Amino acid sequence: MAENETTACPRCGGAAAPVLYGLPGPEMFEAAERGEIVLGGCEVGPERWWCGTCARYLPFPEEAAAERD
Ligand SMILES: [Zn+2]
Repeated sequence: MAENETTACPRCGGAAAPVLYGLPGPEMFEAAERGEIVLGGCEVGPERWWCGTCARYLPFPEEAAAERD
């Protein structure tokens, strides 16, 4: 797990929190409560980041589709 990894939201430019998949441990729950990460659940999805400002996952659907090519 990469710590302190951040990316900027392409829409608002704010810091986005990484979405982590899998069974979360106590540290992950604490980090999620601090807003440092987002728990994505056990099923891995295309979302890699969460922007709390936009209240949206990143990449946005159109960008995720573009990355598949
Ligand atoms: Zn944003």
